Amino acid sequence: MTNPLLQDWTTPFGLPPFDQIDDEDFAPALDVALARHMDEIHAIADSADAPTFANTIEALEGAGKELDKVLSPFFALAGADSTPRRRELQREFTPKLSAHSSAIYANRALFDRIRQLWNARETLSLSAEEARVLMLTHRGFVRAGAALEGDEADRMKAIKARLADLGTSFTQNLLADEAGWSMTLAEDDLEGLPVFVRATARAAGEEQGADGPVITLSRSLIVPFLQFSPRRELREKAWQAWVSRGANGGETDNREIAAEVLALREERAKLLGYDSFAAYKLETEMAGSPDRVHDLLMAVWEPARARAEADAQVLSDMMHADGTNGDLEPWDWRYYSEKRRRVEHDLDEAALKPYLQLDRMIEAAFDCANRLFGLEFRALEVPLYHPDCRAWDVTRNGKHMAVFIGDYFARASKRSGAWCSAMRMQAKRPETRSPIVINVCNFAKSDPALLSYDDARTLFHEFGHALHQILSDVEFGSVAGTSVARDFVELPSQLYEHWLEVPEVLERFATHVETGEPMPRDMLDKVLGAATYDMGFQTVEYVASAMVDLDFHAGSAPADPMQAQAETLERLGLPHAIAMRHATPHFAHVFAGDGYSSGYYSYMWSEVMDADAFAAFEEAGGAFDADTAQRLEKHILSAGGSAEAEDLYKAFRGRMPGVEALLKGRGLAA
Ligand SMILES: [Zn+2]
Repeated sequence: MTNPLLQDWTTPFGLPPFDQIDDEDFAPALDVALARHMDEIHAIADSADAPTFANTIEALEGAGKELDKVLSPFFALAGADSTPRRRELQREFTPKLSAHSSAIYANRALFDRIRQLWNARETLSLSAEEARVLMLTHRGFVRAGAALEGDEADRMKAIKARLADLGTSFTQNLLADEAGWSMTLAEDDLEGLPVFVRATARAAGEEQGADGPVITLSRSLIVPFLQFSPRRELREKAWQAWVSRGANGGETDNREIAAEVLALREERAKLLGYDSFAAYKLETEMAGSPDRVHDLLMAVWEPARARAEADAQVLSDMMHADGTNGDLEPWDWRYYSEKRRRVEHDLDEAALKPYLQLDRMIEAAFDCANRLFGLEFRALEVPLYHPDCRAWDVTRNGKHMAVFIGDYFARASKRSGAWCSAMRMQAKRPETRSPIVINVCNFAKSDPALLSYDDARTLFHEFGHALHQILSDVEFGSVAGTSVARDFVELPSQLYEHWLEVPEVLERFATHVETGEPMPRDMLDKVLGAATYDMGFQTVEYVASAMVDLDFHAGSAPADPMQAQAETLERLGLPHAIAMRHATPHFAHVFAGDGYSSGYYSYMWSEVMDADAFAAFEEAGGAFDADTAQRLEKHILSAGGSAEAEDLYKAFRGRMPGVEALLKGRGLAA
């Protein structure tokens, strides 16, 4: 019996042979691949030769080829075409993979070789990229605690384990609080609610066995309820329940968990030699330090708050005209804002949809990439993992660059959201590899497939990530494509969204599915105008959360996070009718795991850059300016993580990004 995952692949472009792989091949192949990788690691670590870049760092880069061949098709399937068996395999693989990586970081002999190279780095005559890969490898080991010994190493282990438990409890408490509350509505409480909200509320009621429609704390139900229900007392009741998640006292209260998490994170950072947890987290980011994040957030805060206060006055006047006296409250904002939106931007989604055909929008994304970077796309007939997947050979001047796979339609076996991943990363050393890149989306399947405007934006967004992989041109796979700082990785994707908004692109590709007519100009204007609506509110609720996250981690851990949160909001001067987007007891980005802790700012950091980067095209004369496109490819899209993000951006733009373009894009500029 031969396991296709462990053979040489003779498929076109070395694509995984999906038509030959059986689910039962994965587990045995993984065991073999893990063992071979570990043998390679030991051979590197225990070599009798003195460490060199080639026999240590480059050898590490080349190790684990079999592991990639098993895991890349497996994770593609686990995310986009899951089954009970694949979920079971995933549960089996997760602890194995985490034990495998812990064992590598704990390999003393290996770390000693890396450290010797690091200490001798000035004498090794390394290229810039080699020096960068050495630095990243060494830093990765140090940050994982490889340099700690004895009691300190034990304490680090205990802290990590406790943090993992606390993160799980935080999430479970939140789920319990969300599941534990609902509000049953009488028939006349449905007043003002659109059909889709009524249907969702009825379905929720049936699911719970309630005697009528119910409002739950699911974002997809409570937000539209707050937007559309004219019943102020019901809005207040629902809003209070929503913002109390995780802070209801008793067993599911998250406030003490938050305090313990913050204290442990500080201790962990100090064990590793950092002043604060934020200093530890931001070391690997483009922002680099808490001060720079603070400056960014404050530069956006004041204009956003001014806009929000002006909007609050308009909404408050609308409420008073409705016959409701007193202050505009947080449970009033969305309701009056929605009313105002309908007056000012009466964009009819149903009339828009026939202009946004999936195939035409794919063509539009490809056409922009052709005009900007000279890429050409030719459809391929190759076996993939699902009949809805499509593949293209991406070439430039006849030279193969990458394989691009699009898997666009929603189905029950696919997780929600949209993402881009590489089934193979570009590299030249120790072996040359061209990328295999996949975009996965969840668009409603119909024939012909039509998109909402948000869907079209998602398509461009994910294709921007794909370009970061397709155009990657570095030596080492570990710094290829999207292997960059978290606050830099959304630059290519968010930047690419701007080309969807270029009027000539929509005029050419947004054609009516039946008549073939281009989108009418006034519809185009409305689509583009709606993008900045209520940005004062959205920016304020976001920045308030980002600033609280930063303050929590930038100094000593607060004993009482709720008190610290209140002090930050007081200092900012949060408008009365706006709350934080996520308050501490339900701020899962920050407390359910490490992912976005002292990193919640990064959404805005990326947006500052994408707005500023697109302004470079506009300043140079247009969205398809050839010189600017060439600089974008040279310094950003082809460079991956081969240099510091800040240096790459400066090489492209000549300076660091300013917030002006973002403020203009959000409609917040004075
Ligand atoms: Zn993205």
